[in-house]
Amino acid sequence: MNIRVNPESLNQSRRTGGPAAVTVAFGDGIGPEIMKASLAVLIAGGAQIEIEPIDIGERVYKSGHSAGITPDAWDSLRRTKVFYKAPITTPQGGGFKSLNVTIRKSLGLFANVRPCVAYAPFVKTDHPGMDVVIVRENEEDLYAGIEHRQTDEVYQCLKLVSRPGCEKIVRYAFDYARAYGRQKVTCFVKDNIMKLTDGLFRKVFDEVAAEYPDIEADHAIIDIGAARLAAKPERFDVIVTPNLYGDIVSDIAAEVAGSVGLGASANIGAQCAMFEAIHGSAPDIAGQDVANPSGLLMAGVMMLVHLGQTEAAERIHNAWLCALEDGVGTPDIAAEDAAVGTQQFAREVIARLGQRPKTLAPVSYEPDARPIEVWTPQPKPKALKRLVGIDVFVHSNEEPDALAGRLQACLNPLTELKMITNRGVKVWPDPMPETFCTDHWRCRIEAKPEKALNKAMLVEILRNMVLDGVDFVKTEHLYEFDGERGYSLGQGQ
Ligand code: NAD
Repeated sequence: MNIRVNPESLNQSRRTGGPAAVTVAFGDGIGPEIMKASLAVLIAGGAQIEIEPIDIGERVYKSGHSAGITPDAWDSLRRTKVFYKAPITTPQGGGFKSLNVTIRKSLGLFANVRPCVAYAPFVKTDHPGMDVVIVRENEEDLYAGIEHRQTDEVYQCLKLVSRPGCEKIVRYAFDYARAYGRQKVTCFVKDNIMKLTDGLFRKVFDEVAAEYPDIEADHAIIDIGAARLAAKPERFDVIVTPNLYGDIVSDIAAEVAGSVGLGASANIGAQCAMFEAIHGSAPDIAGQDVANPSGLLMAGVMMLVHLGQTEAAERIHNAWLCALEDGVGTPDIAAEDAAVGTQQFAREVIARLGQRPKTLAPVSYEPDARPIEVWTPQPKPKALKRLVGIDVFVHSNEEPDALAGRLQACLNPLTELKMITNRGVKVWPDPMPETFCTDHWRCRIEAKPEKALNKAMLVEILRNMVLDGVDFVKTEHLYEFDGERGYSLGQGQ
């Protein structure tokens, strides 16, 4: 292992020794019972932690905090920098923001790390050799939550991808691979369609991969990549991918491993980290003492590794593997006659502390393991940015020819209407009669060759449109950066 340390990411216990303060949320539904069971195992296994309980989730939402968390809870999280979280219930209906998204973004938890491991033959799976880690970007992409309704018929969601965001997650994936002795990192994107946003992720991946010649780098388009992950997960090692794809493929991978109830995840930032099970609050089985605490317990093991308590992490992880090997499990994984309740399962794991599995591979964590250093974005020289046009999005039920005529009358002699698209497909000039059109038109106006454009001219053109009653609902400037086009062409352009 070769793990570098970022002092900012250290919990107080790292700096001073002694028990680590950890913020703990017992959550909703099965949360309290699986947290109770998990903490019992962690403490019996030698975890040195001091718990700061906080209340989050359904009750907090309903008491008027729209994000499901109170200011006191934020204070605890900022103080301890480590969050051990049971699942919560997001109330149905409008007005409630996703607590997970709020926490991830507010605390800068940019990396979601989810190991997906098969435990055959003790947990049923078609892929006994599977051992994949999904590293999902956690802050950007379509999860920016910037959505608008623009016309009667059309709604949009903005996909935002930044170079520092890509570089942080891609470097983290390669550093993770090095630290945990993994051989290959595969990038999943859809850069054949989203050439700028996913193209940037892929470009950064290729640049960073060149700095890690000891790790094999590979890519796949997300659709075929996800299909292969489902069919032949043994082919993959570490997968790095943007937020939405990561959300989907990490659930596929957990399901394929046969162990959604066993899955754990770490959400890592430069300063804070959050550890949780991948499943939800399972209200259908809450309070019955049947929920599997394994996902949350394994998240606790990841937390102990993060805290540098690797001896306890190793002891607990191996004891848990022994319990699986002995056929001990909650009803979701064990044979009917061998199933035990949530708290009894914890006691069975505790009874095996100090043992090592015989069939499953025992785990070992290096004694001096440290959190992986989070790369700090480096300032890049600013590109030379040149305004070359504007896309004006118009709400209209006119035919494209009529709309084009009206727009052309609003232009100045230095500019021209280059095209009109409808949902990205060119419909003017030369429309195809088969193309289905909505009431939302993207009208591309560009400077004529050799002519310079400025924002005052654009404002004048838009003013003319207002006077002519053109109902524009949004504009996007077209720029070149160091002479390179910073916008996509229309389909068919
Ligand atoms: P879920 O994961 O809670 O449950 C899906 C199915 O899996 C259910 O049949 C459930 O009984 C079973 N299951 C889940 N965890 C289990 C466990 N540990 N042991 C045994 N069986 C288990 O998903 P859902 O029903 O779609 O969501 C329920 C609530 O959880 C919703 O309010 C949702 O918003 C929330 N949720 C929270 C988180 C989180 O806090 N991280 C994540 C996902 C969903």
